[in-house]
Amino acid sequence: ATPTAILVGTGRGAQLGVLIRGPEILESTRRVDTVVLDKTGTVTEGRMRVVDVWGAPEVLRYAAAVESLSEHPIAQAIAAAGQAAPDQDTEPPLEVTGFTAHAGGGVEGLVRSAHAGLAPGGALNTRRVLVGRPDWLAQQGVTVPDEVRSAVGQQEQAGATAVAVAWNGTAGGVIALRDPAKPTSARAVAELRELGLRPYLLTGDSAGAARVAARAVGIPDADVIARVLPADKAAVVARLQAEGRTVAMVGDGVNDAAALATADLGLAMGTGTDVAIEASDITLVRGDLRAAASAVRLSRKTLRIIK
Ligand code: ADP
Ligand code: MG
Repeated sequence: ATPTAILVGTGRGAQLGVLIRGPEILESTRRVDTVVLDKTGTVTEGRMRVVDVWGAPEVLRYAAAVESLSEHPIAQAIAAAGQAAPDQDTEPPLEVTGFTAHAGGGVEGLVRSAHAGLAPGGALNTRRVLVGRPDWLAQQGVTVPDEVRSAVGQQEQAGATAVAVAWNGTAGGVIALRDPAKPTSARAVAELRELGLRPYLLTGDSAGAARVAARAVGIPDADVIARVLPADKAAVVARLQAEGRTVAMVGDGVNDAAALATADLGLAMGTGTDVAIEASDITLVRGDLRAAASAVRLSRKTLRIIK
């Protein structure tokens, strides 16, 4: 084989916004028949927006205080909505200590008024605030009333991502968010299918939110794999491989790194985290999923020239 054709192929890749780790990657790119797409940040914009807050008045304030310490797309949206809230300037600022993030579950922290130290007994006003999936909150010993569960369920049915907010040991509110599909994702899914690949949608989010995103880009409900914990995403890829398929995985998050490394071909969004990019064979520089189809097309063409 002449390395010239490969170099031409990879040079063309750079023009198409596809960075290929090395010439040997082209062979696995050519053979893939299945493509697993992460939802948040890969198929969707990855920029969530708060669309509804349900429950007690302090829900958004408490949630925003804790989420301001997390980098998750859900957290960024809740923190931004808290900043924009009308009571932001009149209420005393909140301080958070003991912040912890639980992958695939939620976040928690101890919240108190920054002025609490001045008032006698101020420390008593410290509250343990948790934001996340109702099941995860329950595992942490929080009481989750039926009305909170059903508010989350209804939002998810409608295609939103919804999290519950708890303080003083009880969930007292729900925040609903939306994250639209990127305008290019539907076209990308169609192109991947035309190339003979079967696309799946994989996410830690609920089945409801996952199906709405999948339908928007033309992936049937049967090929949606939802509520997968970050640690289990790689196992989903391995299961498809065990069925005899050659699997490409496209992702952007820290959560996707193990699955990207397990896949026969890992493709990272250039707009994603460094961890995902390092675990991948190909980087889609502009974060446009159509570049995944370009990569497959390019590899087939390049290897035809060589043979
Ligand atoms: P994805 O696969 O879409 O990136 P994750 O695995 O990161 O999803 O998260 C799965 C679920 O865990 C979220 O839908 C949410 O319910 C909960 N969760 C994760 N991180 C947070 C957070 N910072 N705040 C609230 N909930 C969270
Ligand atoms: Mg993601």
